[in-house]
Amino acid sequence: MALALFNTLTRQKEDFKPIDAKNVKLYCCGPTVYNFAHIGNLRTYVFEDLLRRTLARAGFSFTHVMNITDVGHLQSDDDEGRGEGADKMELAAARENKSPWELAKFYEEAFFSDCRKLGILKPHIVCRATEHIYDMQDMIELLEEKGLAYKAGGNQPNVYFDTKKFPSYPDFAKLPEPQLAQGRVDVDANKRSPTDFVLWFTLQGSKYPNQIMKWESPWGEGFPGWHIECSAMASKYLGEQIDIHCGGIDHIPVHHTNEVAQSEGCFGHKWVNYWLHAEFLLMDEGKMSKSKDGFMTLQKIIDAGYSPLHYRYLCLTAHYRGSLKFSYASLDGARTSYDTLCHKADEWRTQFPVAAQPGAAAKAVIQKIDAAMQDDLNSPVALSVLWEAMRDENLPVPDKLAILDGADSALGLGGVSLEKPELTREQEEFMAAREKARHGKNWQEADRLRAALLETGVMLKDRPEGSSWYFVAPPAKK
Ligand code: AMP
Ligand code: ZN
Repeated sequence: MALALFNTLTRQKEDFKPIDAKNVKLYCCGPTVYNFAHIGNLRTYVFEDLLRRTLARAGFSFTHVMNITDVGHLQSDDDEGRGEGADKMELAAARENKSPWELAKFYEEAFFSDCRKLGILKPHIVCRATEHIYDMQDMIELLEEKGLAYKAGGNQPNVYFDTKKFPSYPDFAKLPEPQLAQGRVDVDANKRSPTDFVLWFTLQGSKYPNQIMKWESPWGEGFPGWHIECSAMASKYLGEQIDIHCGGIDHIPVHHTNEVAQSEGCFGHKWVNYWLHAEFLLMDEGKMSKSKDGFMTLQKIIDAGYSPLHYRYLCLTAHYRGSLKFSYASLDGARTSYDTLCHKADEWRTQFPVAAQPGAAAKAVIQKIDAAMQDDLNSPVALSVLWEAMRDENLPVPDKLAILDGADSALGLGGVSLEKPELTREQEEFMAAREKARHGKNWQEADRLRAALLETGVMLKDRPEGSSWYFVAPPAKK
């Protein structure tokens, strides 16, 4: 089946042609771990999870890389890209009376816990900015050698990317330069152009003498600017040309524009073939921001009596390129639909406890669900196909169960059951290690971990997108 994706580069839906179908290279910008993720951030990760499931079901093997921003993302980077203000990590660490390292560890764990609850599959490679400082420095040195970077300001100057030396800088955002520069003007007198951005901040003579997270560098002790981490880590793990790069739409005019400039400046050729961006989740009050108090988290949804999967279902009801307004009324609607589906499925499973192979009718419906997802991840259409089949009185129940299993694999519906047994931490670690072994084609280790899980009463079922599981009685000890 052909996979079509809307590419921000061309602002068109295009047929997906991978560089190497046996290993599609997928990079997603990860969270800045200075606070809990808000449900807007999580909407973007649900979209990336749908992409990943769709790639797997379309028969592609792939490597999914995501970074963790644990240094260098400044207060005003998001909105204006001015590269001013304090490091968000350091500010939050002071607020919570923790070291920035403790803070990062805490919020990274909280982030992956939210993801697990939402059925978001873990990337094959998760890489932290703080563990790749020297990769970033190598890239900055290369940019200097190529004449694309300059030093400016004081005794020990910062290093800046010179956007004027990269003439296609405005092309990605398709914005005229004055608009790109808006809000970035005249904040940092050392910049040659308002769109220039910092690659390396030095502490000496800069505004950050007390920065705790700091490293030696050819330019003096300091820390990296935010954007360079993604260019450095993406190329380290995926090479100099990648297939798909994702993020939220807020990243188009600054973060991704800067990533393109750094990477293409360094490599001298096109870097990413398909850029995918998710629209924002909106609240009644408008945009949500992690740096403001009172933002909506997954935990607040859980505390209000909903399952995380009700929120996931709500995300699926809207196309990822359309904005979605969050309200409890819409979450109620998602809950009713999701619970009805689970209730039916649980009832049918008591009648037909042994899963049957899908018949021709079921296969046709699953194909329609896959076709919807392969048409630029059209989850609302996939859901309507699913519901039509569920309501079809002529479709035998075993076929309906097979369709639900296919839909669960494609859309991540949490096993489509009201019963949500949870794995212990040890079982979760076994599962993660096994996924890693499978991705590395280390079949012996994967088999060993499968057996180890079975010993604990967890039976795995391998599906294209990863493994699902259910509890069984552990085998009797001999
Ligand atoms: P951050 O942790 O702020 O770096 O953001 C993590 C991801 O969430 C990025 O891909 C952002 O583009 C995305 N994002 C931020 N706000 C929203 C929102 N309100 N709705 C959807 N995605 C968002
Ligand atoms: Zn990034």
